[in-house]
Amino acid sequence: MQGGRTYNIWTIGCQMNEADSRYLAARLESLGYSPAPRTRNADLVVVNTCVVRRQAEDKVYTRLRYLSQLKRERPDTVVALMGCLVGHKSDPSLPSKFPFVDVFLPPSDISPLIEFLRENEDTSALSSLERQHAARDAFMDGELPVPPTELGTTISAFVPVVLGCSHACTFCIIPYRRGTERSRPRKEIVNEVRRLADKGIREITLLGQIVDRYGLDLDPRTDLAALLSDVASIDDILRIRFLTSHPNWFTDRLLDTVAAGGKICPSVEIPVQAGNGEVLARMKRGYTVDDYRRLVGRIRARVPEVGISTDIIVGFPGETEEQFMDTYRLMDELQPDMIRIAKYSERPQTLASRHYPDDVPPEEKERRRVMLEALLADYLERRHCELQGRDVEVLVEARSRNGRWRGRTPQGKLVFFDEKCDLLGKLVRVKLDWTGAFSLIGTHRIPTPET
Ligand code: SAH
Repeated sequence: MQGGRTYNIWTIGCQMNEADSRYLAARLESLGYSPAPRTRNADLVVVNTCVVRRQAEDKVYTRLRYLSQLKRERPDTVVALMGCLVGHKSDPSLPSKFPFVDVFLPPSDISPLIEFLRENEDTSALSSLERQHAARDAFMDGELPVPPTELGTTISAFVPVVLGCSHACTFCIIPYRRGTERSRPRKEIVNEVRRLADKGIREITLLGQIVDRYGLDLDPRTDLAALLSDVASIDDILRIRFLTSHPNWFTDRLLDTVAAGGKICPSVEIPVQAGNGEVLARMKRGYTVDDYRRLVGRIRARVPEVGISTDIIVGFPGETEEQFMDTYRLMDELQPDMIRIAKYSERPQTLASRHYPDDVPPEEKERRRVMLEALLADYLERRHCELQGRDVEVLVEARSRNGRWRGRTPQGKLVFFDEKCDLLGKLVRVKLDWTGAFSLIGTHRIPTPET
């Protein structure tokens, strides 16, 4: 491959998309590409898309309009469209909708682009690389979800373990775009994490739409608890997280594993989506409000220091004021450590789009969102005040723009602190001096030598 070719990847959406983009970046770098500082100078431009809400999809179209312009000005630029807009069964109308796009890639599958480059570029680097990859893992051709140019500055990696989703929540487009649920082999994941650890990665987040269904489709059958234990046995990995959980699949065995502590963080992301039984039934979530309440109680009883985060959709079709207030009251009662609030967005193909009119007006959705946001900020601010003066353990992720180090507590709370020495990838103790609803600021406690 001729030297000096550059790539640019634009990504929107979930952690899974983030991971897909980084596998692709790693693969491109191993083919001799380097990251382009500006899109307009890149030889290869990739757009990794999200369609979970209309708003994300609209941002993709804005980006694509810019790229169609760019392609007119620089026809040699290779343009690749990737992710959930493309879908696992590529829509045959895409090439006519986006004639300036050279190649379409489904989510978690970079092979169409690699094929395209093989056919259109000098292939010498490609073929030697293929031989090298043939003996390695199956997923993403054994590539790592961290590109070589980020090694040394990145200490955290997302590792997809369950691809796709076979649930049919009525609001959700993901199963139609990411295909049916399938788990990656346990050995393949463990090898990947081991290689990441060797390259300086210290924190691993295992990903799946319903991550706690990991391994149930494998032969021999296994589970997330077993996978977490395997990953925890890898020496240089300091912290392990997993997301997203579904209330129906969060087993006692998984809870035991989280309770055992060690490297597995006391952090659970478990969306409830609504706090009203009738709305949950129309969403086809498969649990009741009481089931969720009991689950949170069980998790908190077993892991008192746990950080729980949840997702809420406001303005689902037919959601009345009273039904929304049930959600509001449930959040006030449970007070999770984070609530990701989304306004309902009608999505093509979904059951809700076919059966329920999107009848909550936009300004009403916004009002409900703002109410929940204010509730969250209010109780978090008060709760975090109690942390002032206390020590927390922080894994240092990066130096932020204001010059402070940035990291997270085991529960996932964001912490900033000052320190001159290089602490990247280190576990440190920080005394909290200032606390807000969404971040904490403290002082690095220098470890005193043992006497
Ligand atoms: N698999 C996870 C979450 C997947 S999508 C789960 O089962 O909960 C991430 C979040 O986007 C969801 O939790 C939901 O809150 C939100 N979301 C999904 N579809 C949506 C839609 N049509 N409108 C608004 N928010 C949506």
